[in-house]
Amino acid sequence: MKHFSYRVIIVVFSCLCAAADAHGQEYAEQRAALVDAIRQDVSNTVEHILGTPMETQVTEALKSVPRHEFVPDAQRNLAYLNQPLPIGYGQTISQPYVVALMTALLDPQPGDVVFELGTGSGYQAAVLAELVADVHTVEIVPPLAESATERLARLGYDNVQVAQGDGYYGKPQAAPFDGIVVTAAASHIPPPLVEQLKPGGRMIIPVGPAYQLQHLMLVEKDESGEVRTRSVLPVAFVPLTGGH
Ligand code: SAH
Repeated sequence: MKHFSYRVIIVVFSCLCAAADAHGQEYAEQRAALVDAIRQDVSNTVEHILGTPMETQVTEALKSVPRHEFVPDAQRNLAYLNQPLPIGYGQTISQPYVVALMTALLDPQPGDVVFELGTGSGYQAAVLAELVADVHTVEIVPPLAESATERLARLGYDNVQVAQGDGYYGKPQAAPFDGIVVTAAASHIPPPLVEQLKPGGRMIIPVGPAYQLQHLMLVEKDESGEVRTRSVLPVAFVPLTGGH
């Protein structure tokens, strides 16, 4: 009897594992199709702005991060559509095209240390974590900071440090950063973030009024510390909040 129930348990368990594998495979195929669908468009914009082609590592990173793990269960079947999705608390996980573009515009290098304002689900941080040495990300909504910390740890992203707080002030103790990505719309470019950018570093940030179209801006600090700002394209992000 004991033997029998063990066997039943093992059979049920292997069926569940097979089902999970099949699902994983299906998600991987959907993910690859999504990345292939947006690749050319992202690459054209990057080439237009930076004058160099998009690094293939960026598309590889997008193909390896399981976006379905970063959305609520009810949204999983939508995870590989090219659209933002709600993650609770009035916040969203960004559209894959926008994540790809922001990541590619940072031109991330393997030794880089990057700061993200607005952890949200942790998806953008995970994509960056595939490409750079360390990611420091700050989220102002405590339950989102907690769930992203748990999720990133569970998925093995041990080079991401999540903190709860107001990212407007950056993270002076980990600065300067090779790259900064801001994933909430700011009314202006936060001076503390410009301060914490390394000479030669880049920041990508949506700037504009809340709940209207904003401009995705590329901020570049040259080796002498001069800052140059360019507008990339119109975007719609949730607003930057906090007491600044
Ligand atoms: N990068 C996220 C998308 C985040 S949406 C992802 O990949 O899922 C923007 C996030 O910025 C929201 O979670 C919002 O709570 C957060 N946010 C808004 N203002 C902030 C602030 N001042 N400091 C830190 N996080 C902030």
